[in-house]
Amino acid sequence: MTMRIAIAGGGLGGLTLARILHRHGIGAVVYEREASRSARSQGGSLDLHPESGQQALADAGLIGRFRSEARPEGEEHRILDPAGRTLVHHKPQPGSFSGRPEIDRSALRDLLLDSLPGDAVAWQHRLVAAMPRPDGGFGLTFDGGHSADCDVLIGADGGRSVVRSLLTDATLSSVATLVELSISDADRRHPDLAELVGPGNLWCIGVNQILAAQRLGDGGIRVGISLRADDRHMDTYRSKRALLDMFDGWNPRLTALIEAGDSLPTPRRIEAMPTGTRWAHQPGITLIGDAAHLMPPVGEGANQAMLDAAELAAELATNPADPDSAIQAYEEAMFTRTHPIAEMSARVQAMMLSPTAADDIIRFFTPQPTEPAPTA
Ligand SMILES: Cc1cc2nc3c(=O)[nH]c(=O)nc-3n(C[C@H](O)[C@H](O)[C@H](O)COP(=O)(O)OP(=O)(O)OC[C@H]3O[C@@H](n4cnc5c(N)ncnc54)[C@H](O)[C@@H]3O)c2cc1C
Repeated sequence: MTMRIAIAGGGLGGLTLARILHRHGIGAVVYEREASRSARSQGGSLDLHPESGQQALADAGLIGRFRSEARPEGEEHRILDPAGRTLVHHKPQPGSFSGRPEIDRSALRDLLLDSLPGDAVAWQHRLVAAMPRPDGGFGLTFDGGHSADCDVLIGADGGRSVVRSLLTDATLSSVATLVELSISDADRRHPDLAELVGPGNLWCIGVNQILAAQRLGDGGIRVGISLRADDRHMDTYRSKRALLDMFDGWNPRLTALIEAGDSLPTPRRIEAMPTGTRWAHQPGITLIGDAAHLMPPVGEGANQAMLDAAELAAELATNPADPDSAIQAYEEAMFTRTHPIAEMSARVQAMMLSPTAADDIIRFFTPQPTEPAPTA
């Protein structure tokens, strides 16, 4: 009998998994809560690392299309102090994919969606409950009353995963507040800001706060303000005036990034799971990506989610008759791989919002043989 695989969540992890399984002739249904691929803006751009995100795309047979969409020049990175002085300016080798080229999230998600059969994603299916069935597998219930059964359930449903609670009672903690703004058509409307940000990422490092900006493939700029986690109501951060007050005394060339935002700032809490979270294996169920190891966003989450997908797909393809052994092998390797990465991410996140962040980050960017540089 064919194994019925349900993937909860059609983000980067879930779609990569469905695609690689499909390449191996293993069908899976992705249940995604959003109504369509264009229901929500997918946010900024990501850099994909050769050993994780790019490796997963190679396993998915999509590295050619990735290279035609990605921007190696997006790896350029400028770090300034609040006065606008340059502390670090990293420029990648022109046209090289050996580093960490950037790709817009929407382009990456489209690339994965286009590679799947039309019926692989069940849109508008928000999983609300999964119940183990006495004979194995799970009964799934979706918002609005639909239901489905599966033999194997894979939670790829992100940081606030519903599937996670079937495996672990790990809870999330707030690690930062991120306030985002976007600036469209920057070259024409704000050429001075376009030049300031350059083709990649800009970080302006203050005391316990960072003003960052990122160039997107569509010519826009995404601005992100990172602040220490606090108990203030999120509405505090919805006004440009309040944000400008927080950056009082900074070079106006930098705070112009806040003023130029197209609409009101959008704040959100950044959360993480305890590092080293693991669970006792249970038959027919596992997690990938943020559902398995939500970590502070310092450039690893999407890369690890895609590598989880590639490794789980490879195990299932090698051992299709025994999915539980495949899942167990995947889980052991994933726990071992992601634990130090989550620890490094927590350390970098704390360092970036510390009073000595500028000095620490310069030191961090001075090549170290054992630790990769963080990316936005
Ligand atoms: C500001 C920011 C910047 C970041 N930058 C980087 C970076 O540069 N590099 C990097 O590697 N990582 C980065 N990350 C982390 C990265 O975004 C995540 O780690 C990555 O998206 C995880 O992929 P995922 O597939 O596990 O989850 P997600 O991408 O969150 O996808 C989960 C999917 O599940 C769906 N879903 C959720 N709940 C349900 C449900 N109940 N039923 C059905 N569907 C559901 C969601 O709609 C979504 O489509 C960043 C994160 C943030 C917040």
